[in-house]
Amino acid sequence: MAAPADADLERAIQERGRELLAAVEPHRLIQLTPAWWQERLFEWATRDPEFRVRLLRFVDVLPTLRTASAVADHVRQHFGRGAPRPVALGSAVADRPPFRPLLSRIVRQAVFAMAERFIAGRDAEDALPKLRALVEEGVAYTLDVLGEATLSHREADQYRDRYLRLLEVLGAAGEGWRGPEFARAVNLSVKLSALTPHFEPAAPEATTADLLPRLLPILRAARERGAGIYVDMEQYRYRDLVHHAFAAALEDPALRGWDGAGIVVQAYLRDAEEILEWLESLARRLGTSIAVRLVKGAYWDEERVVARQLGHAVPVFEEKDATDWNFERCTERLLAAWPRLRPAFGTHNPRSIAQAMVRAERSGVPREALEFQMLYGMAEGLRRAVVRLGYRTRVYVPVGELIPGMGYLVRRLLENTANESWIVHKFEEADPETVLRPPAPPRERPAIVRAAPFRNHPAAEWHRPEQRQAMRAALDAVRTRFGRELAPLVGEHEPPGGEALAVRLPAEPDTVMATVHLATPHDAEIAVERARKAFPAWRAAGARRRGDILRRAAELLAERRWEFAATMVYECAKPWREADGDVVEAIDYLRYYALQAERLERGERLELVPGERNRLFREPRGVAAIISPWNFPLAIMAGMTTAALAAGCCAVVKPAEESPVVARLFVELLREAGVPPDVLHYLPGRGEVVGEALVRHPEVDVIAFTGSAEVGLHILRVAAGCPPAPSGPKRVIAEMGGKNAVIVDEDADIDEAVAGVVASAFGYAGQKCSACSRAIVVGTAHREFRERLAGAVESLPVGPPEDPWTVVPPVISPGAKEKIERYLSLAYAEGELVACGRAPDGGWYVAPHVFEAISPDSPVARDEIFGPVLLLFPADSFEDALNLANDAEYALTGGVFSRNPRHIELAMREFRVGNLYVNRKITGAMVGRQPFGGFRRSGLGDKAGGPDTLLPYTIPRVVTENTLRRGFAEDFLGR
Ligand code: NAD
Repeated sequence: MAAPADADLERAIQERGRELLAAVEPHRLIQLTPAWWQERLFEWATRDPEFRVRLLRFVDVLPTLRTASAVADHVRQHFGRGAPRPVALGSAVADRPPFRPLLSRIVRQAVFAMAERFIAGRDAEDALPKLRALVEEGVAYTLDVLGEATLSHREADQYRDRYLRLLEVLGAAGEGWRGPEFARAVNLSVKLSALTPHFEPAAPEATTADLLPRLLPILRAARERGAGIYVDMEQYRYRDLVHHAFAAALEDPALRGWDGAGIVVQAYLRDAEEILEWLESLARRLGTSIAVRLVKGAYWDEERVVARQLGHAVPVFEEKDATDWNFERCTERLLAAWPRLRPAFGTHNPRSIAQAMVRAERSGVPREALEFQMLYGMAEGLRRAVVRLGYRTRVYVPVGELIPGMGYLVRRLLENTANESWIVHKFEEADPETVLRPPAPPRERPAIVRAAPFRNHPAAEWHRPEQRQAMRAALDAVRTRFGRELAPLVGEHEPPGGEALAVRLPAEPDTVMATVHLATPHDAEIAVERARKAFPAWRAAGARRRGDILRRAAELLAERRWEFAATMVYECAKPWREADGDVVEAIDYLRYYALQAERLERGERLELVPGERNRLFREPRGVAAIISPWNFPLAIMAGMTTAALAAGCCAVVKPAEESPVVARLFVELLREAGVPPDVLHYLPGRGEVVGEALVRHPEVDVIAFTGSAEVGLHILRVAAGCPPAPSGPKRVIAEMGGKNAVIVDEDADIDEAVAGVVASAFGYAGQKCSACSRAIVVGTAHREFRERLAGAVESLPVGPPEDPWTVVPPVISPGAKEKIERYLSLAYAEGELVACGRAPDGGWYVAPHVFEAISPDSPVARDEIFGPVLLLFPADSFEDALNLANDAEYALTGGVFSRNPRHIELAMREFRVGNLYVNRKITGAMVGRQPFGGFRRSGLGDKAGGPDTLLPYTIPRVVTENTLRRGFAEDFLGR
């Protein structure tokens, strides 16, 4: 039972709601007009989820289609089969060549008409008549600039200039308009991500410093002209970033006491109330008032999908009702903060509107202090009804070109065709009881049932301040331990080793992190001998017991994730995000391989005929030598070591010369978790010395190698020439290099393609086997892609890895720098420079480079360079692009950005690489989800992180038992 006060409030809300609904004028559409057709399309899409997906995808790609046949092709591919009858029929008839131009025109017109419903014009001038009509009707506006994602400083500057110009144009035009004063005042909605190319949640200070010089002029100009600005909210991961920059901007002396600034609060966030509290305290501290637009939130689908992909808690309420309920709670909170916070309610839900009206009255907030905000082109009847009841309204008016505006349009269509959306309800036909029903609070969530036995460990959430602090503390702590001496670990002993090697920081070569005493061939001899002796007991322990130890190690590593990540930040110059990714991948291997080993040991029964029992199972081979590279200093070393241990092999680990420190930490951690010392040995050392000794050792059964093709092929040759090991001929696992290509199709989303190629080519300075080193761009997409890529590359943050703002750190060693620079000289001589970033002095930095006009046969185009160097190639057709992409000695990763279903299918079949990625970056494979590895010069194809990874560490055995005794078979009885 509701308390009497609540019942009273609810009665008042119901009454006001009915009053509001009664004030909505019915709207009737004339049959077969474009508007009528639009409604039909929305209805079909609401009823048929598959058609909805196709419609949204088609609308998304349409503006990039440049020819009539391209439009016809997409219409056929999207709507040929399974679309509602009139659509399928239309697409079939109009696809005949003579009809194509007509079809193209009609379809374009239809989509442009749809866009015009939600987008007021190309720019401010274009939108002026519509704005004027609104203002003269007594309705205020806030203008939103639609546009491309900001990928460069130049693009960020252009956004600033557009906002400044809007203030000018709208200010001047509005002077002559009639209408109430609040409606005439210029108002803009600004997205802060538009004002910097690098909107980095891990680095709020640096991001703010980068965008403030563009935001402040806008805010100052707004103040001078008496305009208002709302700062829009975007995805959850940017929430703190936006708050940080917003607060910092309002501290500006020129903005002191200004009350024209506003911000959005999204009620679908579970912590929306806390944000309101924070905003109230901010306004108090600044001694001013802040406008707050309370909305439900526009990224609902995305937030839920992305959180699931990353294994993070979903930040939004998942039930629609809970968001509505929270909206009401936030309404109370917002009204209580008046006049410090000036309330605006952005909603199309009659119940949400009615409750705000009633609650405001009860809190003593005057009518003219409230605003109801709605989106341009949506729920116009409802808006007029709100005005009729005597309230102020403001319309959120987007302006912009259609191509960059597509994201916005698709979001609106999504909203209009979502089953739960109020917009599709015709209020005049709806039952007021249903429309005005009080929303239920969130239900207690049942405990998450883990359906899958394996889930990837969640990556760091850098937008959380406590995680950033933990990383900073770990960086400080690891630094205090610099200067240590490290020795090999052979069983329980620490032999003195031979040559001493200083591990220097790539970002500060004068700083020595540790001195490592390298293992000798004699150490290798002893280690293998002890491993051989320990093998039978480790094999006998069984996959379950070994798995328990590895799972314990995973827990330990998860607890110490920041320390391990910080170690790699220094030792291998891994930026925060990359270092964290390395740790998470290692945790995943520990858990994933433990499970796989249990599965293989159980084996499978192959009972194909009666009277006979067959079991296929696997057991460990023996001693494995683990020879790993420095570029995933933890993940790859840990992956191969864990695979060997899980399968039941003993492991002798030889990490790369460049990364002995983190490797030792990991070996110690495994021992702490319970791996017996003689089962696992640590031999830091030179490849040609200790590595070679291990490869040749007669008692080594398995060689697990990841590194360059040159060394990998050498190891294969040496192993083949050795006498058999105890389990038979030596088994070599070799994961090697790449020269990976990304194809950008003519109809690709250029925002995504540029961002994806930049991340793939320049993340960790291009020092990933999976990195993109060739971008192949089809036809007319080339010019725009090239220009935007150049801007993005010139704007990339190059710097020390401790700085969370950094994307491109120094390369690993002076030798690597020299080698990359040799290729750069060749590229300068043979081709043309497209873009070049800037690199600081001091460390082993190489600036990011992009070249074009390089011959596909040049060593620059064929060799793995392993640095921040990207080549750009044009292609006439998608097929040509595929041929060029496949024309490589390596076959590791590849990527395609395309919205053409046929091209995507063709690439899936014909783009022959180990890991192909469609419409995303080509780096960052996840354990269990993207088993990783290539073929040709890239490797033997065993793949890491997949169901087959453990096979080469094992020997298959089959046991067959004849169950037919004296003429009867027990398993045949009774059949
Ligand atoms: P690298 O080949 O120089 O060294 C790899 C390992 O081999 C090191 O531990 C090294 O000491 C050892 N080694 C060198 N000579 C040896 C010999 N004669 N006998 C035995 N061991 C020897 O590679 P790197 O510079 O450490 O790593 C970068 C390379 O690794 C790149 O080519 C990259 O593409 C490749 N890589 C491939 C993958 C993959 O999964 N395919 C993953 C990461 C890195």
